[in-house]
Formats: sequence, structure tokens, C-alpha cells
Amino acid sequence: MWWWIAAAALANGDGSHLWISETARDQLPVGALRDFLEDPAAWEAVRAGSLFPDGGYGVDHPYGEHAHWPPFHRAYRGWIAARWQPPYQGEAALHLGLLLGMISHGTADQVYDGLYMERAREEDGGSDWGQSFDEATEVCFLAATGPQELPPLELPYDALAALLTADGVAVDANTLRRGQAAVNLAVLWASGASQDPERVAAYQAQFPWGCVHQIDEDQPGAPAHEARVVAHAWAQTWAALSGDLAPGGVLDSSPLDGGAGLPEAGVGARVGLFLASPLLSAQVPELALRVVDEAGVEVEISRRLFYRDHSQLLLIEPVAGWTPRAAHTLTLGPVDDAWGEALLTDPWRLHFSTAPPPADTGEVREEPAPSGCSQAGRGERWGPLGLLALGALRRRRRCQTPHTDRQIGETGLTHTQEERVTLPCRRPRRTG
Ligand SMILES: [Zn+2]
Repeated sequence: MWWWIAAAALANGDGSHLWISETARDQLPVGALRDFLEDPAAWEAVRAGSLFPDGGYGVDHPYGEHAHWPPFHRAYRGWIAARWQPPYQGEAALHLGLLLGMISHGTADQVYDGLYMERAREEDGGSDWGQSFDEATEVCFLAATGPQELPPLELPYDALAALLTADGVAVDANTLRRGQAAVNLAVLWASGASQDPERVAAYQAQFPWGCVHQIDEDQPGAPAHEARVVAHAWAQTWAALSGDLAPGGVLDSSPLDGGAGLPEAGVGARVGLFLASPLLSAQVPELALRVVDEAGVEVEISRRLFYRDHSQLLLIEPVAGWTPRAAHTLTLGPVDDAWGEALLTDPWRLHFSTAPPPADTGEVREEPAPSGCSQAGRGERWGPLGLLALGALRRRRRCQTPHTDRQIGETGLTHTQEERVTLPCRRPRRTG
């Protein structure tokens, strides 16, 4: 049996997804959505849904890939909306919880892979990438944040199988159940491995930067960032279910509006925009998108969707570097989404700078660094106990710019991630 557990772990890193969903819930403001997630039955469904997409990988079935992406989430949302109205209780709570969990998973995968793993490929360029980055970072993260309890295994598999089949991926209930058992076992395995200091040290040696910087709450694409985006995506889904059909626009950006200290070139110079609904790759070259510096000079950029059609993460980077020590303004829109519906009806703007960030006035802080802060320990190899100590340090440390706080105020989301640490997730396969 152990061989099967180990194999599942190779295909799944889902303890991270459980942490991300929990952290996203804790960032939501008091209100109807937060109340819904306080329902224990709904919350356990969210946790199960947060693993569900990777179950397909565990049993080598395409339903897993399909459940990662917005087209299925949209179909599922429509199915729920046709049957139930708020308050969502009983069977309705079960399905809405599962949907929110799947959205958490798909959102997190895009953010982590597009922003964090891409940076790790640069920082850990000398590592053997034939080893599983997901497995290593999962175990390191659980070592820092603690083992995860398993979500329930009994889900409405008949209904889910019918939904997936109607959406073009024929699958039966038994296959879904086996997939969910596989991801649960993967979490169990990784939770156990995370308590073995020698094993954690070995994973850390494989990917020194990737393992350690997950617990940096300010690192683009790291679990704390993923959780922030998930909270936005959940709020957007809740609004859509409530009949709010206003264009969702840009849910999150990296850097946040007003961010400073962006490197002029390299992976760290990349700007990531997470959209409320997906685009098609063919739309990207035609997008109304430009960046000008403070002198009004347009900066030549490249742009792409991270992964494929129906992704929500738009990556923008300078062809020859951003203007040194200068403010920049990115303008996007109007834009329609992959279904031809309005995503942005007016131009949307993001302000960022390659000049150093203003001095941090917080009571506990460290030297400013290119990504904003919390770069201490970069390039160092922390032992498992050091990793735990770093996690505790990050929980105490608050390192946000005034711009960060303003952005959060505008979205209505509270920010409690300084009380949390970070975590990785699973990568959907490149299919397009
Ligand atoms: Zn995944």
C-alpha cells in the first residue's frame, strides 16, 4: 500500500491547498459569504473541493485537469444557481462549498506556478528539476505550517460525475471516489513526511530557495499571495451567484497598486494580473495594454497568459527592462473575456515603480528589498528547525507598504496573513 501512497504524493501537493483555503477564508470581511463558510458542513466541502481537481491526476483521468479551470467552474456555478437560492444549506451548501474549493485550487495553481515557481526556476537554477518541485515544497511547507487534517471522503460523486460528463468529460462516480481517496492519502503522506527532519532537510537541499520562500508572505505567488487572490475569487463567485453581473475586472495584481522596488529585469520584474474571468490566448496580442514611464515614454512589453486558453493570469514583462528608478503606469482595457462578456468596460490602471520603496515605519521590520521586503535568508540553507523558526518569525513580522493597505481597503478585504505562514500547491498540466 505504501507504494500507492508515495505515488499519489508525487502527483499531488494538496496540504498546501488546504492551508490556502483556510487563509483565504480568514481574510474575508464579515458578511454573508463569511457566514456561509462558518457552516461546518459547507467548510468541510470547501476543504474537499480544494483537493478535488488533483484527484484526477491520482487516478490518471482527465476529469482532474478539467476541474482545474474556469469553464467547468462556470458550468457548476450555473447548475447551482438554477437549483438553489441563498441561504445555501444542506445539499446546496455541499455543492457550493465544493465549487468554492475547486475555484481555490485552480486559482492557487495559476498564481503559484506563474509567479512563484517561475521565480524558483531562476533562483534554484542549479537544482535538479527532474526531482519533484511540488513534492519537495509541499513537505517543506507542511513542516513550517503543520500537518493537515483530512477532509471528508464521502461526497456527492453521482452528481459530480453527471456534471463532468455533461461538460464533456465522461467519468463515473467510482473513479471520482478513488481520485478523492488518492488526494487524501497524499495529504496524509506529506503531513507525515513533514515531521521527519531528515527528510525535510533533504527536500530543502533539493530546492533551497523554493522551499524556504514559501513562508514569505510578501513573495509574489507564495501561498499567502495565493490566499489573497482566492479570497477575491470567492467574493466574485458569491457576487455572481447573488445576481451581481457587473464586470469583475482585475481581481489582484503583483505588485499591488503603488508597489515600489520592482527590479528592472528578470523574473522579479514580471507584472502579474489575475482577472475575474479568463481569456483566450488568441485575445492577448490584441489586448488594449500599454505601460508608460513617468516621462510619458512607452515601454516595450511582452504579454502572455500563463498556461493556456481560459487562464486568468496575465503576465507582462519589459522586453529590454523597465525604466530605472522611475514610476510606471500600466493601462489595460476595455476587455471582454473568453465568452465575449465584458471584463473591463473602462481602462484599468496599475502604478508601480522601480525606485526603492519608501522607508517602512512598522515597529518590526527588516531592510527593504526589491520585492518589497522579507528577503532575509535568501540563498541560505535553513535546517528544518530553522525553517520552523523562520515561520514563527514571519508570523510576527508585518511588512506591508501603505499601498498594500490601500488596495485592500478598496476591495473590502481584511488582511490577516501576518498571522499565517505559507504553502505550495499542485500544478495543472500544460495542455495548450
Ligand atoms: Zn492542481
